[in-house]
Amino acid sequence: MYSERGLGGSKTEVGSFDRKRINDSLDKHLVRSSPSTSRAVNSKALSAHTGKQRQLDHKDHPISKNNNASDDESETDSEESDVSGSEGDDTSWISWFCNLRGNEFFCEVDDDYIQDDFNLCGLSSQVPYYDYALDLILDVESSHGDMFTEEQNELVESAAEMLYGLIHARYLLTSKGMATMLDKYKNFDFGRCPRVYCCGQPCLPVGQSDIPRSSTVKIYCPRCDDIYYPRSKYQGNIDGAYIGTTFAHLFLMTYGHLKPQKTWQSYVPRVFGFKIHKP
Ligand SMILES: [Zn+2]
Repeated sequence: MYSERGLGGSKTEVGSFDRKRINDSLDKHLVRSSPSTSRAVNSKALSAHTGKQRQLDHKDHPISKNNNASDDESETDSEESDVSGSEGDDTSWISWFCNLRGNEFFCEVDDDYIQDDFNLCGLSSQVPYYDYALDLILDVESSHGDMFTEEQNELVESAAEMLYGLIHARYLLTSKGMATMLDKYKNFDFGRCPRVYCCGQPCLPVGQSDIPRSSTVKIYCPRCDDIYYPRSKYQGNIDGAYIGTTFAHLFLMTYGHLKPQKTWQSYVPRVFGFKIHKP
């Protein structure tokens, strides 16, 4: 279970269940504002923001459509968060986020890494509400929470998720990030290959693009060298750019002994025991 958190104790609890809704509104916001928008421009863009629902236009989101059951869940959960607020909250935003259902592929990025501006170079132009999002990730108390509307708070939460994801993709390529992911790999946190002849080979998460909002995360099997949809629909909604295209392969180069031997065995279709003739 995860604890409920919010900005300034208002109703902004964000779990994986309403990620789609928030991503929709963030998408809309990202379309409206240019990458270099200042805070002033952001608030103008927001006043034009109507909060209407929009279907995800990602080609790659087959799973998010059947999320109805979890949408219902979000209704009740957000009601509850009104009461609970953020008191008694001693976990950091990062560990709260990494423990959300569906976020099993994420590891916890060191605070030190995030606090080093060098590592965040270029991200401020990609993520709206960058400063607020960064404060939220680092649990820096901010007085802006009270100024924001509920919808703005949701956007900041969503921006924090995006910022964390993009930092995460970079962190994974450091030796510390690799070592953390090694533990998760050994723990089968990324699932196993669904292909029968791969005999339950543990997989690694992989993105098909390093650009956010292009595709969802997949799992890569080092035995059959192919990628698959994650088993959990919650994991299937994670943006592939939050893992990146490089990690899985750099990981296997770094820990070469983990690369399984390719003893290729493939399925042979048979009719009454006979192989099917290929013309
Ligand atoms: Zn496989």
